[in-house]
Amino acid sequence: MTRPSSSGRVEIICGCMYSGKTEELIRRIRQVRIARQQFRIFTPHLDTRYGEDQIASHTGARLEAQPVSSIAEVLARSEDAQVIAIDELHFLNDTPQSIVDGCQTLADRGLRVLIAGLDQNYRAEPFEAVSRLMAVAEQVDKLYAICVRCGAYATRSQRLIDGKPAPHDAPTLVVGGLDLYEARCRACYEPAL
Ligand code: ADP
Ligand code: ZN
Repeated sequence: MTRPSSSGRVEIICGCMYSGKTEELIRRIRQVRIARQQFRIFTPHLDTRYGEDQIASHTGARLEAQPVSSIAEVLARSEDAQVIAIDELHFLNDTPQSIVDGCQTLADRGLRVLIAGLDQNYRAEPFEAVSRLMAVAEQVDKLYAICVRCGAYATRSQRLIDGKPAPHDAPTLVVGGLDLYEARCRACYEPAL
């Protein structure tokens, strides 16, 4: 077995919706570009809010990205890269462990693996792939949004249906913006029923 490369690392940027995950990912990639390193950006097929071939922050910043539906595709397309980025990791359609294994494989090969994703679903439960990756990553940054109710730091994504909290059995992977999700703090978050 070949020894993992010392340059490889996994960096997780997590938090609730509107916490600036994509903004931070784009900032890091800009620096990668300045360093003239080879990079690739991937976005899960499911996230079609801004068109399939880009990642976009709510601030309006955008970068071109390759749509993928599995971590295997990310591995297959990362051959020449020094850095890879995956936005909205929670949307990847794979088992949590295979996502972790794929990211670990890339880091073992010497790649810098930048991951942005929600740490919790709208029921405030961990997204498993993201939480497992947080445990094994070299660097974890948890970002906060602002609670739309009280102005405190928000850590949770409140999903709304007709202005009311979504029921407990609603799907966890629904793409949407301000009409469907609000950033809320612990006190203002209304649990799903
Ligand atoms: P994420 O990827 O975490 O959803 P984005 O990078 O897409 O976040 O967007 C972050 C931006 O969203 C902020 O810089 C801010 O301009 C905007 N924004 C909208 N609503 C909020 C909120 N409730 N709290 C903080 N930022 C918000
Ligand atoms: Zn609040």
